Amino acid sequence: MTDEFLVFGSPLIEEAEIDEVIDCLRSSWLGTGPRVARFEADFANYKAVSPAQVAAVNSCTAALHVSMVAAGLEPEAEVITTPLTFCASINAIIHAGLTPVLADVDPQTLCISPGAIEAAITPRTRAIVPVHFAGRPCEMESIMQIADKHGLIVIEDCAHAIETEYHGRKAGTFGDFGCFSFYATKNITTGEGGMILGRDETRIARARVLALHGMSKDAWHRFGDEGYKHYQVVECGFKYNMMDLQAAIGLHQLARVEASWRRRQAIWSLYQQAFADLPITLPTEPDLDTRHAYHLYTVLVDEARNGVTRDAFLDRMNAARIGAGVHYLSLAEHPYYQERFGWRPEQWPNAMRIGRQTVSLPLSPKLDNDDVERVSRTVRASLSSAT
Ligand SMILES: *Cc1c(COP(=O)(O)O)cnc(C)c1O
Repeated sequence: MTDEFLVFGSPLIEEAEIDEVIDCLRSSWLGTGPRVARFEADFANYKAVSPAQVAAVNSCTAALHVSMVAAGLEPEAEVITTPLTFCASINAIIHAGLTPVLADVDPQTLCISPGAIEAAITPRTRAIVPVHFAGRPCEMESIMQIADKHGLIVIEDCAHAIETEYHGRKAGTFGDFGCFSFYATKNITTGEGGMILGRDETRIARARVLALHGMSKDAWHRFGDEGYKHYQVVECGFKYNMMDLQAAIGLHQLARVEASWRRRQAIWSLYQQAFADLPITLPTEPDLDTRHAYHLYTVLVDEARNGVTRDAFLDRMNAARIGAGVHYLSLAEHPYYQERFGWRPEQWPNAMRIGRQTVSLPLSPKLDNDDVERVSRTVRASLSSAT
């Protein structure tokens, strides 16, 4: 008997989501409508902001893109972000006609270093995109001080950070915008989906218009029972709206966000104990007065310490039928950015080293203790060079 393949980031889907999707299908209202409105209200409630401060979209990538446009920056303005992130963070900057500038991460926290941000500021800098890596909050006090001092917009990439808090404040509420992901592997999922949170309600109103073709009224309002209403195109927008079918999943995922968080926290602690004696670098424990979202559990596999390369380790995990991830190769490792911006990985040495050594282990709330035990055993076996 072979062990079942443990899919990395597999979401925990329960009957409530399944029933709601079926109800949504039977209602015949699949597009943006009452379930999206409810999901927005529930999300605003979870974040303790007004419903007028959030806008649901169909991905975090869309949320980032719309936020960049709604920020109203001049063409080619410089936007500082981390090299240790998913390509979407930076593609959104480029698609908005802005210029990405990288600032290296802190080797302990894996989040962008405030000192490196300061060093990257030029007269053309207009915004900072901090990424709360793995769900650990960035040093938002220092980052907001830098932003205030230089008059910069802050767009928080909260793709890992739904539950994250820093000094009693929730991630996404520090900056001008916070962008969340409900992709299949994220802490809560709608299949594909995202949310924009904004400090300023007029900017969120604009983001909402931008996310649906630049139309002044959405279809739900146009085709309701109050008679046909003409819409006006007030700017050149995008097709980024969330569907009720997606919100149907998200409503119940969001209702269980804290229970799922507690399970991931327990798994995270089990791994910390299980690997304490191994020659790998474990994630840094959360700082006092912060809340980690425990989105990723990442370890560093250094060939010089245990004779196994990171990629050999990944192959061994895969051969044992355990899916692992890499978050992330430094953005400067990718040919497109190298060719377009002339970047070399050595320019951001912390991100380069971490990107070449990092492995993310399964952390889904779906894992039971036997699964966690199986992952732990396999990690130990995969690190012994005598195989
Ligand atoms: C997943 C992710 C995104 C993109 O999210 P989508 O919802 O898939 O568009 C952006 N930034 C980071 C850090 C991510 O992990």
